[in-house]
Amino acid sequence: MAYEREKQIAIAAIILAAKLCERVRQEDNSATLRKADTSPVTIADFGSQGIICQALSAAFPDDSIIAEEDATLLQKPEFASILTQVTEQVKIELDHTREDDIVTWINQGNGSIASRYWTLDPIDGTKGYLRGDQYAIALALIEQGKVQLGMLACPALPLDYQQPESEVGVIFVASRGEGTIMSSLDGKWSYPISVNQTGNIGKIRRLESVESSHSDQTRQNYLDQILGLTQPSKPMDSQAKYGAVARGEGDLYLRIPVGNRATRPENIWDHAAGAIIVEEAGGKVTDLRGKSLDFSLGTKLSENYGIVASNGLIHEQVIKALLVNIP
Ligand code: AMP
Ligand code: MG
Repeated sequence: MAYEREKQIAIAAIILAAKLCERVRQEDNSATLRKADTSPVTIADFGSQGIICQALSAAFPDDSIIAEEDATLLQKPEFASILTQVTEQVKIELDHTREDDIVTWINQGNGSIASRYWTLDPIDGTKGYLRGDQYAIALALIEQGKVQLGMLACPALPLDYQQPESEVGVIFVASRGEGTIMSSLDGKWSYPISVNQTGNIGKIRRLESVESSHSDQTRQNYLDQILGLTQPSKPMDSQAKYGAVARGEGDLYLRIPVGNRATRPENIWDHAAGAIIVEEAGGKVTDLRGKSLDFSLGTKLSENYGIVASNGLIHEQVIKALLVNIP
């Protein structure tokens, strides 16, 4: 099996990060800062990034890590108490952690594109996290511009989507050519998953962001009509949507850019882990034009336009409808 050591180290770190995120959410997540782009960031985002970057840097010192957060805000004197809170939370998972360590570890995620690099979103779907809904910890390993390993922890996702009140907390793991495994975060359950074998487009279930501003609703509604979708779409925050497609909870997830394509290309850490998890479960992921996602260009998918993740069987039909109807 490929990447055994990478998997072992990354999964152990992600599980610690997930514990921190859930604990902070249950205790008090009110310590929320605003980044330059006004999006929220919490002490759990920083704690999660610190734990995972520390583990990767110690085990794979030659690997570059490109992660969503950096420690600039935490180093400002007015946010000293936030740095203290992050440190206290990480200390519960990693003894002897100091404030200096936190800054160092978080900034290990400021790497650049290399022939082999990791990309991390320490909390994908921070808005969902704050709302008490879904979020994910997303980590992927990219080699030569192609995702080879992806891991997605979803601490609030039910293990059995047909029983939403059942046990929650799953981790999806996929490595190239070896399929996708879904396990419970406590390690008790683990099994291979695969996408739905539904080719009948009228019967499929679509997933979408809870935040309606994250995808173009007008163009989506038009496309739904053209494709003749009859089932209501399922709202879900974060890359948990990719996990949902991979395990057959839904069949299609689209991200249609709002307005001018140049204004907001997608971030690599928002899609790398999710994409391989869907592909290795038998599905397909491209942009709206049917083009493969290119992870070799920088922190953005700058040569791609939007996202289509599907069960594979309906992919061509969706791309065709997009090409004809969504200019
Ligand atoms: P989701 O819950 O699928 O919408 O995913 C959350 C991700 O949406 C975050 O990681 C952000 O990178 C991304 N995001 C934030 N604002 C926007 C926006 N205006 N349009 C599209 N995506 C966004
Ligand atoms: Mg994100």
